[in-house]
Amino acid sequence: MPAADAPAVTTATSSTAPAATAPEGREPLPLAPAGPGQLVMTAPRRGKPPRHFSDLEPGERAEALAALGEKPFRARQLATQWFERLEDDTERMTDLPAASRQRIADALLPTLLTPLRTLSADRGTTVKTLWKLHDGALVESVLMRYPGRDGAAGRNTVCISSQAGCGMNCPFCATGQAGLTRNLSTAEIVEQVAGAARALARDEVAGGPGRVTNVVFMGMGEALANYKAAVAAVRRLTQPAPDGLGISARGVTMSTVGLVPAMDKFAAEGIPVTLALSLHAPDDELRDELVPVNKRWNVAQALDSAKRYFDATGRRVSIEYALIRDVNDQAWRADRLGKLLNARGRGWVHVNPIPLNPTPGSKWTASDPAVERAFVAALEARGIPTTVRDTRGSEIDGACGQLAAAPEEPRG
Ligand code: SAH
Repeated sequence: MPAADAPAVTTATSSTAPAATAPEGREPLPLAPAGPGQLVMTAPRRGKPPRHFSDLEPGERAEALAALGEKPFRARQLATQWFERLEDDTERMTDLPAASRQRIADALLPTLLTPLRTLSADRGTTVKTLWKLHDGALVESVLMRYPGRDGAAGRNTVCISSQAGCGMNCPFCATGQAGLTRNLSTAEIVEQVAGAARALARDEVAGGPGRVTNVVFMGMGEALANYKAAVAAVRRLTQPAPDGLGISARGVTMSTVGLVPAMDKFAAEGIPVTLALSLHAPDDELRDELVPVNKRWNVAQALDSAKRYFDATGRRVSIEYALIRDVNDQAWRADRLGKLLNARGRGWVHVNPIPLNPTPGSKWTASDPAVERAFVAALEARGIPTTVRDTRGSEIDGACGQLAAAPEEPRG
């Protein structure tokens, strides 16, 4: 760990750059020489992915089609085909003039994501896809189907990536260990969901035809460090068809290490999605180690911001807490967490303990089941709703913290 009391922050572009460009909504960050164990708040600049229809706000689309010599009303037809019918072959978009289809495809529907490999588990109801981006960068997304019980509708959740790699350097997370390659564009984020929606609609996933009901920004990357693209993607996912994919905002969860200014800005966007805060420890001493960004925004500041998010949106916040054996799983820490949450009000929050998923080279493992139960009981004793998250996908390295986008699987 760096000895300085402020986290060592660097731009990955160059350590000699005169100043870091502050990401949206944050103060400029002090620069320090690049080195291991550091936070990277600003993504390296790489060749931009080509512009895609999914990057465009509804108001920008008519102009984009007009620039191709098409009538403005074609924008809505194309949106209906792309987002509502999930059609990705322009030759089958028969309401568009045959002579225009290829031109529209070339200009507005470039292939952004190419599937390199899919792995499945749970009899095909958990599917992890490794995608190659236009510049060779790799990301992963995971589709998880949860059948409904007693006649209730099931859920289909897509866990998506917002960056190739991650700059937050959490030591228990495989993505964090690999560092940050680059930010994804809006369309690169949206198309992970569209890809899953297409596979479900076409009955290509075990469990019968279906639609995406939930999206969680819990794949690779810190979405709020890629603020503009991530928020535009949330809008595209939640805009009603045909403007967007028409997924209910209530089904979308934005997960963050606790970038407080970005959380506050996100609260003001007026999109009622769920916020998840990766806390992992109630005390700054341990959280400094587990979530290095804590040295910039500590436990109290992150929790205050999470509460403000609830106050602004009415959406109950999730506190994520990976249970790591003998590191953060003591009942006294659960009790301390319960106190901190109750000090900020009642009914605004619930806790999601996550049994630690193994990552290559990590010395840590999941807590003993009895210890996990005692941790949950201590929270419940303080009246905090608590749900242990399942470890879906762990056998295909598709569970929380396991996405490393290695071209070869590290094991199995
Ligand atoms: N950057 C976002 C998304 C990360 S992944 C964030 O930090 O919130 C979603 C959750 O999985 C986070 O809470 C993350 O801390 C957690 N996680 C990371 N590695 C894990 C692991 N090995 N086992 C269990 N959870 C892990």
